[in-house]
Order: sequence, then structure tokens, then C-alpha cells
Amino acid sequence: LGWWDHVKPAPKDPIIGVTEAFLADTNPNKINLGVGAYRDDEGKPVVLQCVRYAESKIAGCEFLESNATEVGSKLVEESVKLAYGKHAHLIKDGRVAGIQALSGTSACRLFAELQRRFYPESPIYLPDFTWSNHHNIWRDAQVPERSFRYYHPISKGLNFAALMDDVKNAPDGSFFLLHPCAHNPTGVDPTEEQWREISNKFKVKNHFPFFDMAYQGFASGDVDTDALPIRIFLEDGHLIGCAQSFAKNMVLHGHRVGCLSVLCDDVKRAVAVKSQLQQIARAIYSNPPVHGILLVSTILSDPQTKVLWFKEVKVMANRIKQMRITLRETLEKLGGPLSWEHITNQVGMFCFFGLTPDEIDRLVREFHVYITPDGRMSMAGVNTSNVNYLANAIHEVMT
Ligand code: PMP
Repeated sequence: LGWWDHVKPAPKDPIIGVTEAFLADTNPNKINLGVGAYRDDEGKPVVLQCVRYAESKIAGCEFLESNATEVGSKLVEESVKLAYGKHAHLIKDGRVAGIQALSGTSACRLFAELQRRFYPESPIYLPDFTWSNHHNIWRDAQVPERSFRYYHPISKGLNFAALMDDVKNAPDGSFFLLHPCAHNPTGVDPTEEQWREISNKFKVKNHFPFFDMAYQGFASGDVDTDALPIRIFLEDGHLIGCAQSFAKNMVLHGHRVGCLSVLCDDVKRAVAVKSQLQQIARAIYSNPPVHGILLVSTILSDPQTKVLWFKEVKVMANRIKQMRITLRETLEKLGGPLSWEHITNQVGMFCFFGLTPDEIDRLVREFHVYITPDGRMSMAGVNTSNVNYLANAIHEVMT
């Protein structure tokens, strides 16, 4: 037997597979609603003004190895401020074990590794549905997976009663992954009141909430409003884990800038957890590239640039909200028995129609509308030029 003879090709990643199929399609009407990356109304990727400004500010600066740690700490401090809001003093108190990560993916993976190291028997509870890569991340870290109910197929909203039941019935002290805003793939978020109830129940059950925040700002257009669930949990005195990504809200996909923070009871524990996280990262990729980190920390630490960024996030979120309204109105005008209310009830980058595999297949084959195999549509790929075509395609396959 030769080397690697027993290796079979891995199944294609469902999201990356969609982009490949889209690129290979020559139909001029084709629409890519697969990948969750922001596009402007002309369907083009954007570079934010705040990023341009930060680039000009850091141009020519020396990327010395000696300042990598300093740059990293700054990023962690600014990221934690952004997520924790007025609770950011916890970082000054030395209770936050924070480490820069390779975007949101590695923030999740670092946490999964930490979990396996110190709670090897504990599973991770993932919402049903969730971002498809969550399954891979915790599987590869050898953490057993459980699920809790989340999406309601009839209302295309939250199955809150079932969620609360599953939270209640999980063994005390379980790890739960929560999307604080702009849930991927469903676009369904709990209300503020529901978050308060979830937080209370977690308290009673002594569960550990791990927030995966990949879309801060995309749900409401306001980064503070979107972080509210995290702040509710902090207010209630929880210890939390939090993964942050700047891929979407700063449109920095390729730069891979993120942060993982773990709030601990005291300095001693935070120091220990941080050193373990550093050791885990050290054996995988040692240190992250410093350029993107400099961009993000420049934007977050300069008040004027930060305000500019807030405005630009709002512009992106508002464009998507407007497309939701137009898509819904256009579908309603086309008639038929179905309700399209969920399109505007759902928030963030994604819209979830609960399409059957057959309907998804027809969208792709007949209409060249590319979406992920779970039926998730990225609203960021919808614009004034393709929204009518899209509405018609959805109408044709669903009614
Ligand atoms: N978590 C969720 C829920 C996501 O949707 C994503 C991006 N698709 C990520 C984490 C991580 O993405 P990235 O590594 O590009 O920051």
C-alpha cells in the first residue's frame, strides 16, 4: 500500500461549494446568495472608509516582532470594550482572559480546545440550526455535540418554549453556544425580554454561555444594541466566553482579525486561562499576522475613525433592511397564499425560508440563484437590480 492510499476526498464544505458552483455558471442572471459577505447595491465588495483611513495611518509602520504583543493586547482591550460595553472595566480588573484570534473561526476553535482540555466530559450545546462550521470546529476539537431547539419551521421565528425546555433539561453546568445577534443561518434573534429569561434560566442551571458574535452591528445597525444580550448576561453576573470577528462588520474577511475572551471569577483564574489559550494557539499558529490587527485596533482606538465605522456599519445594515422590505413587498405583489412576513421579521445578513431540498434545487438549476444547502439566503447579495428576479424565482419555486 502506498502512502495516503486510504485517504478519501473530504466532502466539500457546503458554503465554499456554493461559491465554486456560482463561479462556474455562465448564466448572466445568476445570483450568489451563498457566502455571507457584504456587497453594495451594485453587487460589489466594499472597502470601508474607516479601513482606508486606518491603512493610511499605519502605512510604513514597522511590523516588529517586539511590538506584536503590545498590538495584540490593544486589540483585545478594544474588542472587549466593544462587546462588554460598560462592563469593560472587567478587563481592567484583570478578570478577562483575552487573546487575539484568526477571526471568529479560530476564536471558536481556541475555546473548543480549552473546553476539551479542562472539561473533557462536557458537550457543547449548539442551536438547531447553526452555522455549519460550528459542527466541524467542536468535532475536530473532540468535544461531543448536543443540540437545543431554536428555529420554529411554521412561524419561521424562534421556538422559545422549546429552547427554554432544552436549557432546563440539559444537565446543570452545561456549555451552550449562543449567537448574540443576527443568527446564522436563520436571521432569528430572541427579543430583549426573552434574553433576560434565558439569562435567568442559565443562572439557575449554572450553564456556561459562549457567545459567538460574528455580526455585531448587522442586526440593528448599531453595535451597542446588538451586544445587548452579552450585557444582560454580564449584568446578571454570569461568567461568559465570547468570540468576536471583524470579518463582516469591518469587511475584513481576508485579514482574519478576531478576539476570544473568557471572563473569569478573579485575576488568578484569568491569568491561568489566558496562559492556556496562548499555549494552545502557540502550537497551532504561534502568532497571528499583525497587519489586520493594527487596522482594527487603529479604527477602534481613534474616536473619529470609530464614529466613521459606526456610520458605515449602519449604512450596510440599512441597505440589507431595505432589501428585506423590497423583497417582501415584491413577493406580496406576486400574490399567492404564503406569508412573507418572516423576511422582515428576521434580522442580520441572512434570511431563512425553510425551503425543501427540491425547492433549493430548482432555485439553483432553473433560476441560477445560489444559496447554501440548508436554504440560507445571504441578503447581502440582494440589490435593486436583482431583487425582482429573485422574488420571481422564489415565487415560482414556493407557490
Ligand atoms: N461564527 C458565525 C456564526 C459565523 O457566521 C461566522 C462567519 N460565517 C464565523 C463565526 C466566523 O467567521 P470568520 O472566521 O470569517 O470571522
